[in-house]
Amino acid sequence: MSEPLAPGATIGILGGGQLGRMLSVAASRLGFACHIFDPGPNPPAAQVAARLTTAAYDDTAALAAFARSVDVITYEFENIPAAALDALEALAPVRPNRRALAVSQDRLDEKTFLRGLGLTTAPFAAIGDLAELHKTLETIAPPAILKTRRLGYDGKGQARITAADDAATALAAMNGAPAILEGFVDFEREISVIGARGTDGQIACYDPGENTHRDGILHQTTVPARISRAQATDAVLIAAKVLNALDYVGVLGVELFVTPAGLVVNEIAPRVHNSGHWTQNGCLIDQFEQHIRAVAGWPLGDATRHADIEMTNLIGDDIARALDLARDPAAALHLYGKSQTRPDRKMGHVNRLIAPGK
Ligand code: AMP
Repeated sequence: MSEPLAPGATIGILGGGQLGRMLSVAASRLGFACHIFDPGPNPPAAQVAARLTTAAYDDTAALAAFARSVDVITYEFENIPAAALDALEALAPVRPNRRALAVSQDRLDEKTFLRGLGLTTAPFAAIGDLAELHKTLETIAPPAILKTRRLGYDGKGQARITAADDAATALAAMNGAPAILEGFVDFEREISVIGARGTDGQIACYDPGENTHRDGILHQTTVPARISRAQATDAVLIAAKVLNALDYVGVLGVELFVTPAGLVVNEIAPRVHNSGHWTQNGCLIDQFEQHIRAVAGWPLGDATRHADIEMTNLIGDDIARALDLARDPAAALHLYGKSQTRPDRKMGHVNRLIAPGK
């Protein structure tokens, strides 16, 4: 275990989107300064962080200068190029570690890793070409989903296969990228667990939340999820198993399908997670502070939930409702300071307390 960072230390964050912004706010509450590294000129996190470096992820000189200026490096997204990590790791600790990133960057490696832990995933196979896809569809029968192995998010880079005839169109949708075929999981609901692990191996997990999506983007997370106590315990144990196996430091999101036969792991995200935003108003220590505590080598905070909450993302024009939402005494607004609205852009979210018994 390394020495905890003293207040006043600087935390470097790769990525300056809303997650980097909320991490920076949490860090500043603990007296840390944040230095954001982002290729874009005016990222949301820069409005609340102490320092910004605007440079590309292949600019090794900028990466080295950034790494020298901070005490620890963390990130808000998983697709950090390996060469950038090489440059950074030589100069400052990167938390969560490289293995966590590698495993979550590639859906094939991720599912292989999860299976290796004895966890249940959808049936899956790597797909190189159309002949292989046709052959695999004999064992992983439709309905199935073809996904790019890397760089997919919010349902992008995915194609449904309802019959073998769809194979060619689905493969064409991958644009030549390496792909993975997954059997379709007939789930009752989708849940996620946000878990954290400290440098000393301490683990704290939040209650599972229930997620619904619109157009492939998270729409709402509701806690508590409509699952049994046993399922909630299973979900938390899965998160803890993944955290330990990766010798993880920081917050991790685990997305799960609830099925009559048990929980099926969909994917893991080595970072704070949209489905964990409810913790800002449902727990004493939210996922953002928890992540900062972990990467700073601090003791983790209490993840106990003290309210029932519904988190709703404000996407695109939903932001126009912000003032109306602010009138609701049960609602807490979290806006990201993005100047431009686009139809599928996450502009903010609202956490609403659900009255007991509803
Ligand atoms: P992903 O990008 O893997 O998180 O997938 C986005 C969404 O697609 C998930 O939240 C599910 O609603 C759905 N999905 C992904 N994979 C599967 C699967 N194997 N079976 C059923 N639904 C899936």
